[in-house]
Amino acid sequence: MRVGILGGGQLGRMLALAAAPLGHECVIFAQSGDEPACAVARSVLGAFDDDDALARFAGSVDVVTYEFENVPLAAVEGLAAHVPVRPGARSLVVASDRVHEKTTFRELGIATAPFRAVDDEASLREAVRAIGLPAVLKTRRLGYDGKGQRVLRTEADLDGALASLGSVPSILEGFVSFQRELSILGVRALDGTIATYPLVENVHRDGILFRTTAPAPHVSAPLADEARAAIASLLTELDHVGVLALELFDRDGALLANEIAPRVHNTGHFSIEGAHTSQFEAHIRAITGDPLASTALRGHSVMINLVGAIPARASLLALPHAHTHLYGKAPRPGRKVGHVTINADDPETVRTETSDVIAIVAQARDILAG
Ligand code: AMP
Repeated sequence: MRVGILGGGQLGRMLALAAAPLGHECVIFAQSGDEPACAVARSVLGAFDDDDALARFAGSVDVVTYEFENVPLAAVEGLAAHVPVRPGARSLVVASDRVHEKTTFRELGIATAPFRAVDDEASLREAVRAIGLPAVLKTRRLGYDGKGQRVLRTEADLDGALASLGSVPSILEGFVSFQRELSILGVRALDGTIATYPLVENVHRDGILFRTTAPAPHVSAPLADEARAAIASLLTELDHVGVLALELFDRDGALLANEIAPRVHNTGHFSIEGAHTSQFEAHIRAITGDPLASTALRGHSVMINLVGAIPARASLLALPHAHTHLYGKAPRPGRKVGHVTINADDPETVRTETSDVIAIVAQARDILAG
């Protein structure tokens, strides 16, 4: 099939790389030919409001998917009139609005932090009265990697908080004193079959994912079951086709849902080497109507993101269990330029080589810092 991917980032690139061995040809819809996915597949260049470019794109593919959730809804709905778009617009609508998203969690019986919609100063103060402090104020839309949010600790922090986020529709959430962050990925096929990956543990630095450990350590059977049930109910409720990611907080052994991403996800990158079927292959299988395959893990994995600087390539490649993925992006502070997955049967080997990778990454950052 010819698979159209909206967005030319690294997720689109890894989707295209996974689609090729299945016999599919990908076409990337990107704003510029310099984007990472354009180096590995054909592309149609244009903006998301360029109807001519979108029509050319729709005419050149059999199915469309997207690699980020901030695709304008109008573009997706316009395409959907000509070609199947999977996942559908509903997944996009729910995932791109934090209030809609958390309301959906609540309706499905999935626990979250307390939350209130915030539209102006009065509703912010009302929300703080209801939820208490500390709390987190986030924009409803377009937030990512910790951007578009502020922690409010005291009453004084309320002054100017909404304005600092651009006075846009927002959400106030209770601050969760979690012990750790987890995520679970699930995939739903066109015929409704669901497969899930095991829970993984994530560590962020400066609001950006730094490290994923698969499987997450110390996960009880009930916790695993609860996470699987949550992602399965979301996949079904959204009539989602493709991969869906759910980010969770683990607070005292109880799960609180934070957000979903209606797409392949950074916390699933480990699966390229660390699972029988990678999240990218799983997504392509689902959206093209193929059956799903095993999502079981292969051994133990740690994924380390390369952020802001590309480390010494030769040092990374010298490590026998480290798999380096570079996205072809110019390094800039805070920009994800690649990732490394350390995968082995034996957790001790993974631990040792992870320390080596972290040392190499730190060295690159120190060189950059001068
Ligand atoms: P988000 O953009 O919602 O993924 O938030 C980015 C990061 O901020 C999360 O990965 C958490 O580390 C932290 N965070 C988000 N929401 C909360 C909350 N309600 N309580 C405490 N920390 C939070």
